[in-house]
Amino acid sequence: MIDLRSDTITKPSDKMLDTMLQAKVGDDVYGEDPTVKELEEKIANFFAMDSAMFFPSGTMANQTALKIHTSPGDQVIAHEYSHVYNYEGGGASFNSGVSFKLLKGDKGMFNPDELKYAINPKNFYHAPLTKLVSLENTTNKGGGHCWDVNQFEKIKKICDENELGLHMDGARVWNSIVAKNNNPELYGNYFDTISVCLSKGLGCPVGSILVGKKKFIDKALRIRKILGGGMRQVGYLAAAGLYALENNLQRLSVDHQKAKEIASRFSSKDCINSVNEVETNIIILELNESVEKQKIINHFSEKEIIFDWYSMGLKKIRIVTHLNYSDEDHKRLLQVVDNL
Ligand SMILES: *Cc1c(COP(=O)(O)O)cnc(C)c1O
Repeated sequence: MIDLRSDTITKPSDKMLDTMLQAKVGDDVYGEDPTVKELEEKIANFFAMDSAMFFPSGTMANQTALKIHTSPGDQVIAHEYSHVYNYEGGGASFNSGVSFKLLKGDKGMFNPDELKYAINPKNFYHAPLTKLVSLENTTNKGGGHCWDVNQFEKIKKICDENELGLHMDGARVWNSIVAKNNNPELYGNYFDTISVCLSKGLGCPVGSILVGKKKFIDKALRIRKILGGGMRQVGYLAAAGLYALENNLQRLSVDHQKAKEIASRFSSKDCINSVNEVETNIIILELNESVEKQKIINHFSEKEIIFDWYSMGLKKIRIVTHLNYSDEDHKRLLQVVDNL
């Protein structure tokens, strides 16, 4: 089976599992797990930010960030494709009681000038109070695209002028850092909080981190507890994160190269209307209006290949390359695409 539904489906390697078993652990709810502390410190330093906190999921890290920056009734500005709006089960309203103002824009990114006009004037009390801007890097539903760091500077300036918090949903920020050869320490200049996933491209079984300014991460401790995310001997999981940062970060370029090759094979097919311009590990195919998606699904499932058929939209298919997608799998997949 070749499973390219998501980069979350990877299984920990023997070496990763060995490292996990060797971890020194303690009760992290008492702040006594040395491996969790090591990982948190390492990631805070990586982004040149004050503090970091381990979470069981990216959703909980994002939800905590929304809660840190807002009060019930406030508004969050985000792209219409954003994960915090589309895929967190309505958590933003459930946990924080906030509404969204959604921006449009290519590839899941918005223009800073449009952001400026989306902010509700503070003294106009008829409208919700705008409190937070959240952007995604890389963009998931947008097709794995990377923000240009120059845009961060513009957005940060607008946020400062309007006293807004700035959060990055960086579930796949690793892919962006590798694809654009960005210095991650730059990110610390612009964002108040960044959530990152260890369980996607980096190949860990579980785990996300919220990194940010000290005053925000201090606040996150209580919120994580309320959400049920305070965990005990969780150093076993943090150890996987430490292993992944050492061993699985730079190799993301391999996933990116394979994704580019897959996209280019699909782009010449009659059934395809468009393929995104692949920058990282996500390919979004849009089928021609007249093509039945089920036929495409059948063609691949007969060869034991599965993609994400449904979550991106009626005529869209998402393909995500990852650590467990081997060179052999890749060869076989390209052949099946050629025969489509
Ligand atoms: C996967 C993902 C998350 C977090 O998802 P979890 O499954 O809860 O870890 C957040 N944002 C984006 C853009 C994602 O792709």
